[in-house]
Amino acid sequence: NDAEFDVPTTPEDVDWSEHYPEVYEELEGRQQQQQGGEAGAPGPSSSAPEQPAVRFLDIGCGFGGLLVRLSTLYPDTLMLGMEIRDKVSAYVRERIAALRREQPGLYRNCSVLRTNAMKYLPNYFRKGQLTKMFFLFPDPHFKAANHRRRIINTQLLTEYAHLLAPGGWLYTITDVPELGEWMRAKLAAHRLYERVSEEELEADPAAGLLVLSSEEGQKVARNGGATFRNVYRRLEAPREL
Ligand code: SAM
Repeated sequence: NDAEFDVPTTPEDVDWSEHYPEVYEELEGRQQQQQGGEAGAPGPSSSAPEQPAVRFLDIGCGFGGLLVRLSTLYPDTLMLGMEIRDKVSAYVRERIAALRREQPGLYRNCSVLRTNAMKYLPNYFRKGQLTKMFFLFPDPHFKAANHRRRIINTQLLTEYAHLLAPGGWLYTITDVPELGEWMRAKLAAHRLYERVSEEELEADPAAGLLVLSSEEGQKVARNGGATFRNVYRRLEAPREL
């Protein structure tokens, strides 16, 4: 039930320092140092360091397996998992808190938020802010009447393109052949995306995590199931048809 969680009206209303306290404390420290260095006379030349912003999004992050692996792989990138289930998002929050306690300095760049990602992404993120979006083993919604609930569809792909920076990547993987074909077809038909080549995927550390990092992926692997991976790049401008 969406009424159970708060939704910010605009991205400016989100207090990200609650999610990444150490990152923001460090930033404040640097800003104070800088101001001190300028002898309290901040002229037009004083450039404020760029505010950190969430760049990677794991949509329907489940128990957070991908997130915690990405966190150490890209320690300087802020990343967020979004999960609609209250208990599951609470579990991920506690998982990250425990990792931060056990390994000081690590995992400060990852966090989780409970929300309905099909409804509220523009309330959290600005145009072009994201560089990677992950959709690992999304719910298949098998029945035709429920296809509109699929988290990859033409309309939502347009919204994701709005939030992705040009050149940003959208990663999908599933063990459901029919859903894999659905996601491939929707992405292939969208003029704001182009397929990422196998060579580029080989060279991309995040792509290597798709199959085995998440809890669902590990379950599929244990059962010896096949997986279908489709990764697309957000284009600068719509491509010709
Ligand atoms: N990505 C995880 C993995 O690979 O282990 C979880 C996969 S699980 C099959 C799909 C997850 O998406 C569930 O945890 C579900 O609660 C979440 N989910 C479904 N719809 C969602 C929505 N609209 N917004 C956020 N999360 C959603």
